[in-house]
Amino acid sequence: MRTDIPLSCPVPLRHTTVQLAHGGGGRLMRQLIEEVFLEPLPSPALAERHDSAVVPLGAERLALTTDSYVVTPRFFPGGDIGRLAVYGTVNDLAMSGAHPLYLSAGFILEEGLAMEELRRVVASMREAARECGVRLITGDTKVVDRGKADGLFINTTGAGRVPEERSVHPRRVRPGDVVLVSGDVGRHGIAVLSVREGIAFETPVQSDCAPLAPLVAALFEAAVDVHCLRDATRGGLASALNEIALDGGVSLAVDESAVPVDEAVAGACELLGLDPLYVACEGRMVAFVPAPQADAALEAMRRHPLGAGAARIGRVTEGPAGKVSLRTRLGGQRLLDLLSGEQLPRIC
Ligand code: MG
Repeated sequence: MRTDIPLSCPVPLRHTTVQLAHGGGGRLMRQLIEEVFLEPLPSPALAERHDSAVVPLGAERLALTTDSYVVTPRFFPGGDIGRLAVYGTVNDLAMSGAHPLYLSAGFILEEGLAMEELRRVVASMREAARECGVRLITGDTKVVDRGKADGLFINTTGAGRVPEERSVHPRRVRPGDVVLVSGDVGRHGIAVLSVREGIAFETPVQSDCAPLAPLVAALFEAAVDVHCLRDATRGGLASALNEIALDGGVSLAVDESAVPVDEAVAGACELLGLDPLYVACEGRMVAFVPAPQADAALEAMRRHPLGAGAARIGRVTEGPAGKVSLRTRLGGQRLLDLLSGEQLPRIC
């Protein structure tokens, strides 16, 4: 790991070349997006910085999102790159309140990749798409010379329809809203890291990678007026909370002891010097709901197997945009800051 990049600083350093930390979901990634992409490519939909762009299409609203998958290793406990490439994109559609419908897939293949492995990944994508009720309708393949890519990269684009009455967006978050998380955090990062670093835990940690659309549907079926949703992927729960606080222009107060963390994940984090609040998930989301509906929302999530471990972890407060305060397990108070980079690169 680079040691010249401070893990936490208010204004990230400007780099003349792309750093691994630019992909980490933290301050450097925000800076990259703002300065290199948003400035020269102004677009109201892009400037919204939501998980999907939502644009009108005739009388309806289309949600569109794209994501690339570079996880290493490609197979890990509880999932693989193919499953991630479907779930990750479908989840970003779900986070904007959309019904996921269609997917495209682009494959960058390195000369020499075992055909059998590629078949396994494709079979996994077929299974995941079936599970999510989306259809893979178009794709592309490119092959690059040996040594010019790391086996296999996948890009998926997802399209979905946003029901007329729905508005799920950081702008809708209000002081007083309750913050819920759909389950224990940090499994995905630890599952990938355990294989990558050859670490054997007493209890093997399985990735939490899963489709979140059914859980979102459960919230709307319970008539919850969901203000905002965000899947906690790169940079973990802490980064998702920081993004919403910044983009929604609010402060958050979070209770550390209320955040569910599996015992094996907590143990692994302690061993590796990682904070589970910053470790990636691939099947967990945060939901911002009006306080009077928080119990109903929590019950709706808990009734679904994917949300069985859902918990109320904090609330939205008046205060400066982007401030996330954490009440620690020991009863102290500290800022839950956006890191500069990522604790673990190539996690998704
Ligand atoms: Mg997302």
